[in-house]
Amino acid sequence: MVGRLFRSSFAVAVGAICLSIILFFGVLYQYFGNELMGALTAESHYLAQGVSALGQDYLDDLNSDRRITWIASDGTVQYDNWNEANMMENHLAREEIQETLSNGNGFAQRWSSTLSQQTLYAAKMLDDGSIIRVSSTQDTVFQLLFSMIQPILIILLLAVLLSAFLALRLSRSIIRPILAIDLEHPDDFSEYDELAPLVTRIRRQHATIHKQMAQLRHRQEEFSALTDNMSEGFLLLDLQGHILSYNSAILDLLHTTPPTQKNGFYLLLNRNEPFRHSVSEALGGHKCQQMLEVNGRYLQILANPIVRDDAPAGAVVVVLDITDRHRGEALRREFTANVSHELKTPLTSISGIAEIMKSGFVRPEDFGGFSTDIYNEAQRLIALVGDIIRLSQLDEGASTLERCEVNLHSLCSAVAARLSPVAEKAEVTLSLEGDSAIIVGALPVLDEMITNLVDNAIKYNRPDGRVDLCVKQDDYCVLLTISDTGVGIPAEDCQRVFERFYRVDKSHSKSIGGTGLGLSIVKHGAAYHDAQVTLDSAVGVGTTITLTFPIK
Ligand code: ADP
Repeated sequence: MVGRLFRSSFAVAVGAICLSIILFFGVLYQYFGNELMGALTAESHYLAQGVSALGQDYLDDLNSDRRITWIASDGTVQYDNWNEANMMENHLAREEIQETLSNGNGFAQRWSSTLSQQTLYAAKMLDDGSIIRVSSTQDTVFQLLFSMIQPILIILLLAVLLSAFLALRLSRSIIRPILAIDLEHPDDFSEYDELAPLVTRIRRQHATIHKQMAQLRHRQEEFSALTDNMSEGFLLLDLQGHILSYNSAILDLLHTTPPTQKNGFYLLLNRNEPFRHSVSEALGGHKCQQMLEVNGRYLQILANPIVRDDAPAGAVVVVLDITDRHRGEALRREFTANVSHELKTPLTSISGIAEIMKSGFVRPEDFGGFSTDIYNEAQRLIALVGDIIRLSQLDEGASTLERCEVNLHSLCSAVAARLSPVAEKAEVTLSLEGDSAIIVGALPVLDEMITNLVDNAIKYNRPDGRVDLCVKQDDYCVLLTISDTGVGIPAEDCQRVFERFYRVDKSHSKSIGGTGLGLSIVKHGAAYHDAQVTLDSAVGVGTTITLTFPIK
């Protein structure tokens, strides 16, 4: 803008200088013309007096550089100091002669295109009627200008330089306050009243920008709050695969750190084939789903193209942690396989015994033994199916079970009474200590849990062993402890015994009628009652399992 202002003011200054020079020379030319005409008039007067007194001799003696012509009253040229008088044409028709004949004095100026000069004439009538005329040429304005060209050019150059300097200073001094306008506070600008409308527009524009920025910030915050609180990973890419936006969850899920580069490439987050494939498919305009395993976790990659004006414009990638689902499915598959296997074993032996009996080769005294085997296998099947049903009920949240107040001490007493024949048979002493303690729960589930624990404590005990039940209550919880003096559980198996069908000694467990689901039911039952299960065991010493029920 400084340049433009400078050019305009400089051009105006140079134009003004040139115009001034032209006008100046015009006026000067006019002045010199008037001066010359005055001199010619005065000279014509002197000459008229001289000729009147001395005749042509006066003119012959005169040594003048002006042209002097003496013309008779009829227009005949009697004398001319520049030409032969008798060779000259009659001057009667000339303008200055005509004027002199009527006024006594005459003036004229004529342009000579051949000489490119102007000639001024002054004429005076003598007493005898003849006319004396003096003439002189005057240079044109251009000749005048040309004659003074050197000083004019020097003055012009100085004037142009001065104009350039002043134009530059002027344009800078005009622009400086405009450039210094504080766009944040345009109201502080009071330098030029003419710019008040512009300042008002800037202020309005500023207010609009502020408002829009606040809206954008608000939306950005909303978006960030939304994406950052998502447990799913989120990633937004442009068409070239540069990261436009992402949330912290995707970094956790992909087990990576934030990209150091702004708008870095998506491969900075993960380079595994499923991730690469799904993103490149989405960038190519196709939806894609892939499974990815990162750091022991199973992730589902959902990549979708962003389409704008019917053309792909980028991709949005959502990453879901499906580890639990994946493990659940694996567990279910394992459970189904285990159930089939557990059911098949007793059924195979029932089928085998029945086949032998059907063949008629069984002696009558062996029938009792075969019937007992069938009965035992059938009991095992019933126990297994019962445990599976209870587990599936607990898996579904046991929403159908009715909750009521249960006295845990009384329940333990009932279970102990029910299992005392089993304990007696195994030569194990059962005891119960503690006081009444009321909890709210599902009676059949609690009964099943305590039965399983006491049953295990008897089963995995030794002759003359002990099983001690204890119910205690404090301000916050009810504790049920079942301790035995049995075989104990090796440390490495302590956590796994709660898994379905997990047994420390498979053949021993099966021989004593174990299904491998008892502790699993205890774990699920405890979770259903928000209770905690702790196991403390030492091989050859015994096992203590504690259930801690919170009081609500
Ligand atoms: P099971 O029907 O085989 O008893 P459980 O789920 O009840 O199945 O128990 C799983 C395994 O944990 C058992 O096979 C056994 O090896 C071990 N176990 C359970 N309770 C005890 C205990 N009180 N003492 C020693 N081992 C035990």
